[in-house]
Formats: sequence, C-alpha cells, structure tokens
Amino acid sequence: MELNKLTIKEARTLLDKGELKAKEITLACLKVISENNKVLNACLLVDEAGALLAAEKADERLESGEKGGLLGIPYLCKDNIMVKGLKTTAASNILENYIAPYDATIIKKLKAAGAILLGKTNLDEFAHGASTENSAYGATKNPLDLTRVPGGSSGGSAAAVAANLCLFAIGSDTGGSIRQPASFCGIFGFKPSYGRVSRHGLLSMTSSTDVIGPLTKTVYDSALVLEAISGYDELDATSVQAPVDYYLEEEKENLQNLVVGLPKEYFVEGLNPEIKARIDEAVLKLKELGAKVKEVSLPYTKYGIPVYYLITPAEISSNLARFDGIAWGFKAKESYGLQNFYKDNRGQGFGPEAKRRIILGTYALSAGYYDAYYKKAQAVRALIVEDFNQAFKKVDILLTPTSPHPAFKLGAQNADPLAMYLEDIFVTGASLAGLAAISIPAGEVSVKDGGGNLAGEKVETMPIGLQLIAPKLKENILFRTAFKI
Ligand code: GLN
Repeated sequence: MELNKLTIKEARTLLDKGELKAKEITLACLKVISENNKVLNACLLVDEAGALLAAEKADERLESGEKGGLLGIPYLCKDNIMVKGLKTTAASNILENYIAPYDATIIKKLKAAGAILLGKTNLDEFAHGASTENSAYGATKNPLDLTRVPGGSSGGSAAAVAANLCLFAIGSDTGGSIRQPASFCGIFGFKPSYGRVSRHGLLSMTSSTDVIGPLTKTVYDSALVLEAISGYDELDATSVQAPVDYYLEEEKENLQNLVVGLPKEYFVEGLNPEIKARIDEAVLKLKELGAKVKEVSLPYTKYGIPVYYLITPAEISSNLARFDGIAWGFKAKESYGLQNFYKDNRGQGFGPEAKRRIILGTYALSAGYYDAYYKKAQAVRALIVEDFNQAFKKVDILLTPTSPHPAFKLGAQNADPLAMYLEDIFVTGASLAGLAAISIPAGEVSVKDGGGNLAGEKVETMPIGLQLIAPKLKENILFRTAFKI
C-alpha cells in the first residue's frame, strides 16, 4: 500500500484501528516529496523535522485512545499563510527570508486537531494569478501533464494533492484560486463563504473577497477539513458568528427537493464543447437523483472580470503598501536617501504582476479617477450580488463549468495579462458576492499536444471541473449535492 495515496477517510480508519502510525504516513509523504518536488516545484519549503515531531505527538495521542478528525493526517499549506517559526514568502522576493512570528488561526486549529504540517506550497506571488507562473521561485508544473500549468494561484497545493505528496492541502481563494487549480488538477477545491473561515494570519490580497479553504482527493475529505477550520474568530473582524453545520452528515441526505440552476451566461461561445458534454452528463445524473434543473439568468455576469480587476488591484495597492523594507521584508543593498530606499525596496522586491496591480489600483483610487473606476466598480458589484440574490429565490444551487478549458500549456498565457485575467471568467462572481462554491472533478476532455505525466506516460486527456455555487453560509447544500455527483 502506498500510504501517501490514501484519502483522509481511508487513513483515518487505519489510524483509529491502530493498524497504521501517523509517522508511517508522514514518512511516505516526505519520501514522495523528495522524489518529485524537483520536477513539480509544488513545495517551497519542507519542514521534515517539524513534521516528524508532530507525527510522534499524534501517535502518542492515538495510542492514548484519541480518535477521529484530522489527528495524524499530513498536509501542505499555501505559503501565504503564517506558520510560527517557518518562512512565509507568499512566493515574493520581498518576503524572501521572512519568518512568521505567529500561527494563522487555521494553523492553530489544525495543530490542535493533530494534523501534521509537511511544508509550504508554491503560489503566484501574493496569490496574483491563475497559473502559478508568477511565483518568484519558479512555476509549478501540473503532475498530470508536466508541460501544463496546475492553475493558480494555489497551484502548488493543487499539484501536491494531485501528485499525492500529502493527504490534503490548504489554499486561498480570492477570485478562483482554489477552484480553478482544483479543476486543472482533477481534484476537489472548496471555497467557503466569505467569513466562514478565519483569515487571521493569511497575507491579505483583496480583503473583501479573500478566503481560506481545502484542496482534497474526495468530497468527504473536503467536508472533514472544512469542519475543522471553520468558525468565528475574534481576531478576524470579518469572520461571521454563525453555527458551523455538520457537513459530513450531508452524505446521508437525498436530492429529492433540490432545485439546480444553470446560469445561461456561463454556457456561451468559447466554452470547450467536451466540457459542455461533461456538464450535461452531470445534469442528467442530478435529474436521475430527483433534482429539478432549470435555466436562470445572471445578467451582470459579463461585468464580473472588469469589476474584479478594478476592486482587486485597488485593495492590493493598499494592502501591499506595508511592504517598504522598513519593518520587514527585502532591503535593497545600496540605496541613498529615504525616497530611494522605498523605491528600491519595492522596485526590486515585487515581481511584474504585483507591480502592475499596485499601479492599476493606485490609479483607480486616485483623486479624479476614484468616481469613474473604483466607485463605479463597487456599484456594479452590488448589481452582481443582486443577480445571485434573485437567482437564489428560484433555485437552491447553481451549476457551472469551473473554467472554459482544461489546463493550458506553461507559457501560453503569461505574456498577455488580459488573457490571464479572462481565465477567471466563471469564478470571480462567487468571490465578489462572498458565496460558497466548490469545484468537483467532472471527467476528462481530449487535449492536443499532450506532454508526459509524472509517470512518463504521454497524455491525451486532461480533467475538468464543474462548479457548484450556493448562497452565503449554505455550505451544507453544496456538500449535499457534491456527495451525489
Ligand atoms: N486569478 C485571480 C487573480 O489573479 C485569482 C486570484 C486568487 O483567487 N487569489 O486575481
């Protein structure tokens, strides 16, 4: 048995029966990481000593009779989330040697649950991107086809789960960064409602849409991790005081009274026809299970990308203002005068996409342009939210593709920022409205010019994902549906 390939549920059973030790799974994962990370570049840091210590502690707890949850389960975490004593770079040169002084709330929760942190995963710098090519530490490769991107910005986490380097991974999703890489790597990616999971200790990107969530091999595992990391946190002013449902219980529910909406604006020209066929198959299955399916309209969908790419850079320009090389981060070696010191630190520390967003955001927020750009974007955002409110009066859940195509080739989009921004076409809406959403593997589609996978086999098909979107804090409906598809 290859222990690194276990799902959390499978490992749980073996650990609880005493047939397996946490240390054995941890060693299996560390071995596969050391064999494959040179090729994949999915992990930016591997904390072997920390992981083995945590595994020993977990084994002691298991031996003393403790069971269940995430006790003894090894995972990887995106490198924009703080883990006390470990480097947290956000894949940026500006934080090259930054050591986090405290644990993010979700890390505290996972530590208390007995989960074992193996290391930190690669991402687009500060989570700006859709391919993980914007990392200052090199691109991550898709393990299913090494000539393709894993998606982004949580591409390291998605590639790690798909390549079985860990049993689950943590990512962040601001405008699709958990869902799109999950779709490109053939795994499950869950974006909780805004405020469901504490953002304390996540390096801020777009504070009004940032969320943390799990990337997993199954729906069950996703529900298990979400239960462990959700809940109100007084250290995050936007965290919501709402009870966390028992997501695992949803597996027992049926879909008899469920009404599923297909937003017509998401099924347009340019959508890969094989993806449309996979979605049609899922719809048929839902109908067979007793769900009703109807077409709905979200008329403001077409403004999703322009609105997201005004609000996001605006918030980024403000959030990244703190990185000036004085309190922390990169310091330019030779710099004369205070003005130059700031300019050199930021000029040399940030990569091209972070700079592009700082410039775009500063422009959109500046006097004379604020009303025309930022304020207007916020007004249209309200209309996008209202679109969803109206749709959810008619249906319980929405079903869409996660991405218009499967994983694209490394280098195919990164010369053209606009093309990269358009990658987010189906995922930004749920982020702007703070809704719960999941990407579920929905089969495979054929690809031309396939490369080789990690095992060296030539690839002819790649996975695609379908997205389910539910109203805010209705994660339970998402899981109920996801368990059955
Ligand atoms: N692709 C989106 C962007 O570049 C998503 C980022 C994210 O969710 N972190 O902004």
